[in-house]
Amino acid sequence: MKFAELNLESRLLKNIENLGYKEATPIQEQAIPHIINGKDVAGLAQTGTGKTAAFVIPLIERILLGQKNPTELQGEEKERYEQRAFKDWKGNHFVMILVPTRELAEQVQENIQKLTVDTGLKAFAIYGGTGYDRQKEAFRNGLQFVVATPGRLIDLYKENVIDLKQVRGVVFDEADRMFDMGFKDDMSYLLQRIPRERQFLVFSATLNFDVLNTAYQFGADPVEFNISRDQTKAENVRDEIFHVGDNEKPLHLLSVLKKYKPQQAIIFTNFKVNVERIAQFLTENELPAMAISSLITQAQRTKVMQQFKAENHLNILVATDVAARGLDIKGVDLVINYELPMDCESYVHRIGRTGRAGSEGRAFSLVSDRDIDSLSRIEDYLKHKLTIGFLENQDLLTDFKPFPRYNSGSVKRSPHAQSEGGRDRRPERSKNFRQREDRGPRSGGPKEPRSSDQDQHRNKRHANTNGKHPPTSRPAGEGSSKAPHAKAAHGAKSHAHKEQRHPKSAGSSHPRRDFKRQAPTLKKQTSMKQKVVGFFKSIIGK
Ligand code: ADP
Ligand code: MG
Repeated sequence: MKFAELNLESRLLKNIENLGYKEATPIQEQAIPHIINGKDVAGLAQTGTGKTAAFVIPLIERILLGQKNPTELQGEEKERYEQRAFKDWKGNHFVMILVPTRELAEQVQENIQKLTVDTGLKAFAIYGGTGYDRQKEAFRNGLQFVVATPGRLIDLYKENVIDLKQVRGVVFDEADRMFDMGFKDDMSYLLQRIPRERQFLVFSATLNFDVLNTAYQFGADPVEFNISRDQTKAENVRDEIFHVGDNEKPLHLLSVLKKYKPQQAIIFTNFKVNVERIAQFLTENELPAMAISSLITQAQRTKVMQQFKAENHLNILVATDVAARGLDIKGVDLVINYELPMDCESYVHRIGRTGRAGSEGRAFSLVSDRDIDSLSRIEDYLKHKLTIGFLENQDLLTDFKPFPRYNSGSVKRSPHAQSEGGRDRRPERSKNFRQREDRGPRSGGPKEPRSSDQDQHRNKRHANTNGKHPPTSRPAGEGSSKAPHAKAAHGAKSHAHKEQRHPKSAGSSHPRRDFKRQAPTLKKQTSMKQKVVGFFKSIIGK
């Protein structure tokens, strides 16, 4: 479907064309016609497939029409108004878009800005870690889109800067991540205070049970789209794992980067205390790297992101999951997981930082015995084994500067560091079993990041692999027959190898976790609606 066929406001169409969008992506093609007619929508589509524009374009159309005076309209325009407009749109009305991180708030705000050129509509990003003055002023000056992390928005509401009764539409982008981050209470707080008659939109590559049921609880009745079907992760990202010993990770990281010479690479680590160390290690080995985590100040974060976006030759960013969600940086051609993330959705989102808008991307994960539990969770979730790759001996470097030891003084701490995208003063509170980026190592200590009981369990799971990478008889890139680039000739052999790698068929007897570990299918979630509404009512107390 071409955007021109949507009969959009001409200034909006021109802005879409100026961005170079001609054909709508599948999620846009499905969601836009419903959103434009005022329907609630829950959209599940792979990373990098244009979800932002899928909700921003129709919302702009609805606002622009809503600003018109219906008594002055005739014919086709009147019809469009009747069908599409936010009726009785007033100067102080606005749409609220909630996102999990500050960087994503900036990016979505920039997207809206590009699509609202010459329309007079204004968007502003609201998040913690920065001063209140500019944000208050933006509200005073009037705006139609507020893109916010929930914590700061609530602070501004409590200071009477924001009137939540003026919200006409609410969007949860990467909604499941916000639930992971312990923002569920904040979401309920906000939803209880906005009018019940509002449009409700939810988007992610990985929606879950909690998100949709909160939506139902608050009266949303979303049309559901599942573009990703059973293929949760982006199709154009070729992902492989390397089995390595824990102390071989620095060598492999360096060797992979030197071999593949990416334009822009993101290296994810689960532990914010490791971010600086990895960046320092790479820099000392002639691969200058930047670092971003919640340990640095917001001003530093902004600067790092700008710098990373601006250069695209052997440009490396080391990050925690603060950069896993939503960020759209076109030149990122390689993602490396220094550790596998502990929750499976994060794997999909991390590797989804490459392969944006149909481009090809590669992702490697360094898997040691400590990552084995995460690996089986991720493979269960994706419903297939990950391709096992390896480096040839000649690609493994022999001479390099060692990985720096942890030094508690080496990282400058932000006064706002404790809560990612959230209120700066709020204590940590997620009860989720998953690792939160901003929670730091589980043990709480700055030493090595896992507790011994976890290690024992991991070692047991890994009994068959001895912490070594697999036999070098198999060329890199081959393995799972489901991997997009796998060569079929080696499929059977690698399958046998992988079966051995997972002696226990993975799974859990815990029904709640089982649900989360499945690649999401919205139909299944809908059918559970009745069962869980009562539960949510009891939590929310409504
Ligand atoms: P998602 O939220 O699904 O991960 P984004 O909304 O960040 O994806 O979009 C990914 C990239 O695709 C962005 O660079 C965006 O500009 C681009 N894009 C979005 N829609 C289109 C389209 N219809 N045609 C071409 N590129 C598009
Ligand atoms: Mg997005």
